[in-house]
Amino acid sequence: MPKQTDPATSGFPRGADLLNDPVLNKGTAFGEAERDALRLRGLLPPRVHSIEEQVTRVMENFRRKPTPLEQYINIMMLQVRNETLFYRVVMDHLEETMPIIYTPTVGEACERYGHIFSRPRGLFVTAEDRGYIADILRNWPRADVRIIVVTDGERILGLGDLGADGMGIPVGKLALYTACGGVHPDHCLPVTLDVGTENKALLEDPLYIGLRRRRLRGAEYSDFIDEFVNAVREVFPRALLQLEDFANHNAFRILHAYRDRVCIFDDDIQGTGAVALAGLYAAPRIAGGTIADQTVLFLGAGEAGIGIGDMIVAALREQGFSEDAARARCWFFDSRGLVARTRTDLVEHKRPYAHEHPPVTDFLEAVAELRPTAIVGVSGQPATFTRDVLEAMARVNPRPIVFALSNPTSKSECTAEQAYHWTEGRAVFASGSPFGTVIHGDKTFVPGQGNNAYIFPGVGLGVVVSGARLVTDEMFSEAAKALAERVTKHDLEVGRVYPPFSKIREVSAHIAAAVAEVAWKNDLATERRPQDVLGYIQSQMYQPNYRSYA
Ligand code: NAD
Repeated sequence: MPKQTDPATSGFPRGADLLNDPVLNKGTAFGEAERDALRLRGLLPPRVHSIEEQVTRVMENFRRKPTPLEQYINIMMLQVRNETLFYRVVMDHLEETMPIIYTPTVGEACERYGHIFSRPRGLFVTAEDRGYIADILRNWPRADVRIIVVTDGERILGLGDLGADGMGIPVGKLALYTACGGVHPDHCLPVTLDVGTENKALLEDPLYIGLRRRRLRGAEYSDFIDEFVNAVREVFPRALLQLEDFANHNAFRILHAYRDRVCIFDDDIQGTGAVALAGLYAAPRIAGGTIADQTVLFLGAGEAGIGIGDMIVAALREQGFSEDAARARCWFFDSRGLVARTRTDLVEHKRPYAHEHPPVTDFLEAVAELRPTAIVGVSGQPATFTRDVLEAMARVNPRPIVFALSNPTSKSECTAEQAYHWTEGRAVFASGSPFGTVIHGDKTFVPGQGNNAYIFPGVGLGVVVSGARLVTDEMFSEAAKALAERVTKHDLEVGRVYPPFSKIREVSAHIAAAVAEVAWKNDLATERRPQDVLGYIQSQMYQPNYRSYA
């Protein structure tokens, strides 16, 4: 049942129940008349505060916390106490709070999830719920779910199998859907599929919150996923399913199994692909040429790498390249060397990128031989864009494009400083984790962050607004273009290939419009197209303002 939000109805909570309801609670911002009408007198200190004053108090406490993890606990407790205030705080202080509610701190929070756990958030669907998954979904208290972020916890960020403790990821991503994309929190559902874990330390930890069993595998796992996907379609037929942090082998398989008939996408594959593609649209505006002039060498050939490769191929196809010619512009180097025809150990998703080339097992040698215009690090291996590699890139390119996308910061293939210093300040650099400004000679660089949060909130909003039935690659390529179009001359002058994050709501609205237009154009939409698409989308975006109940 939808929540009662009209105080005139008998179901509307009063007194302590109202203060305990995170959606309706306003804390000390309940006004005089509301306090009388809703039996709040005496339950609150007498002084009425504005939401701005409440934000000041929250931030004072937040900043006093000694560690990022303590800040995470502090701010997530606000989400379960007062949702409106939580979003106001996050939106007013996005650049400060985002590294806490999402990477890198959310990773640490997941690693300690059982130990810092106090109030449940999201929905846990477990291997023991087989046969009843639709019933479990019906336990969720909000009826009009439009976006579900789901993980099975097997590959949480770069941290590996965290089982049910991965719940921090869907919770954090959905907070960004609301803060960055303006998707109403009522429409958001975080789900963790607890199918067991192979993490021995967790299995032995008495405070671990998940099932004490090893992972479902093979047909049992596939059947479980199938039941979950079908249950979502039955209980929340208008919901978009976003796959998050599944292990490589399952991520590609699940995406391909359902994408032609279910509204589903994988952020690690397609979201990453689109954000990196946007960077590659913008980078040549500094480096010269266009995306059609690039040869890209990837370090790492997993979900992120192949996702980006596929997006580049789609972009080049749009420009008239044949499939083969487009793929020939993308080279991959994985933990065993250059991905080439001679290799017999390649899994399916790498094979389309196996080109004719003698074996190469040294990345520096690959750079020297292939002379790429861009190197993209998605290996999760730090210090792999060495001084020699960057100097080699600078020798063959006047403005080498260097994207070190591995997260967290400690895993980045190189730092921003290294990228600029080792290329005589000529690198066009972007990273997965944030780096501060770098001074090289008389120039100050502000490196861009290829954060997926530029893309997925806008894509989700576009799907919700148009009621799209499927999520297509064209939606992601249009999203990438829309993002690249928001990069200004000033951004480029300071070396940034993404707009500043402070503009994320505007960026998300433009991406949503581009995505929704694809749905309308291709007959995938179930909602009618408004005349002023962008204006309509902006009017639909959630704003964290208190409602008056008096
Ligand atoms: P993955 O496990 O699917 O793939 C990792 C790949 O790296 C594999 O192909 C593996 O063979 C390769 N690899 C491992 N060690 C290597 C080595 N020493 N040399 C060369 N290749 C090596 O992981 P993923 O999902 O593709 O993510 C990879 C990294 O990209 C992670 O650190 C993740 O944080 C980052 N990432 C960044 C963004 C972003 O910045 N927007 C988005 C998604 C992922």
